[in-house]
Amino acid sequence: MTKSKDSLSSMRTRVVRGAAPEGYAHSALTPAIVQTASYVFRDTAELVAFFEGRGGPSQEYGRYGNPTVRLLEQRVAELEGAGDGLAFASGMAALTTSILALTRSGSHVVLFADCYRRTRHFVRDFLARFGVEHTLLAPGDVSGLEAALRPETRLVISEAPTNPFQIVVDLERMSAICREHRVKTLVDSTFATPINLRPMELGVDLVVHSATKYLAGHHDVLGGVLLGKPGLVSLVRELHHEMGAVMDPHAAFLSLRGLKTLALRVEAQNATGLALAQALEGHTRVRRVWYPGLASHPSHGVAARLMEGFGGVVSFELDATLEATGQFIDACELPRIAPSLGGVDSLIEQPARMSYFELDARARRELGIPDGLVRYAVGIEDTQDIVQDTLRALDAV
Ligand SMILES: *Cc1c(COP(=O)(O)O)cnc(C)c1O
Repeated sequence: MTKSKDSLSSMRTRVVRGAAPEGYAHSALTPAIVQTASYVFRDTAELVAFFEGRGGPSQEYGRYGNPTVRLLEQRVAELEGAGDGLAFASGMAALTTSILALTRSGSHVVLFADCYRRTRHFVRDFLARFGVEHTLLAPGDVSGLEAALRPETRLVISEAPTNPFQIVVDLERMSAICREHRVKTLVDSTFATPINLRPMELGVDLVVHSATKYLAGHHDVLGGVLLGKPGLVSLVRELHHEMGAVMDPHAAFLSLRGLKTLALRVEAQNATGLALAQALEGHTRVRRVWYPGLASHPSHGVAARLMEGFGGVVSFELDATLEATGQFIDACELPRIAPSLGGVDSLIEQPARMSYFELDARARRELGIPDGLVRYAVGIEDTQDIVQDTLRALDAV
């Protein structure tokens, strides 16, 4: 574990410079957007040489690769300490393609009950049709993991921190147990970013990011990235060439540009997240705050051990009805009401009305989603502006 100030400042440098030793085409300071669907062979001899692995163009066809996309894959792999990376059209494309590539009929998958809703649905509803079974563990419950593993378990999937309650699974213990049982681990590290957490250093096999969130960071592009050891990533790449949910070169360029400020943005969001959580905790109108940086959070111990910062998402429950909570959100002037997180703009949402809109009050209660729950994903605006605006809106309801 590297957990010093040095490693933080080196991340600041590494997100800007990366390891692009040769520089870019035309001696440009920034990479080119290679906006092509195909690559040209000079003559038949070059075509033959290409398929024999003896040179020719870098690629044959756009679905099999693109230099701008490849650069993003290498950059994120470097930041995660992974041997290789693979980019996708979205975070969900990265997750579904990877999970499909690593399972087969008769396989068993373990995931935590609070994982991203669409990941859970994919495993529960879609993979089940192909004979893949699954077990859901209680949020953060690594102690139940060993008992859940079966001889046919192929994959354990987790997130850290989770949405909306920000549970941080003990990834070190999880990967140690899985390694002992020869089960692969996949961590959706979207909420953490490589600035705050590097799961591969903790023994995890594969990491996925929705680049839509912090990595690209400006709410203007959808993307996903898979990171891991080259052997495992190639396995997924084979299927990726057939599923075809590849990242567009322009999306890769925007993600590469966003990456340059990743460390600065996340450091600012860590600081604001903590300040907002502290300001809300103990407020008379707030029942509870879920932020892993608070000592009161159930995952605080694990988060403090594994993470270098606690992120920019603060969840809190108001002592208020569904309606009054909506009024609080409307009274906040700074954050925009929108799904997503991790970008430069602060975003706010009421999970009972956004992520869980299709459930009635009872179903929401069973899932543990209170009517007064608010998820605040801080952007890079001024910390005091965000805190003061939130406190003012609390007084208004
Ligand atoms: C947003 C998100 C995803 C899905 O990513 P998309 O880019 O929207 O497909 C997956 N996991 C987590 C934790 C997310 O926040």
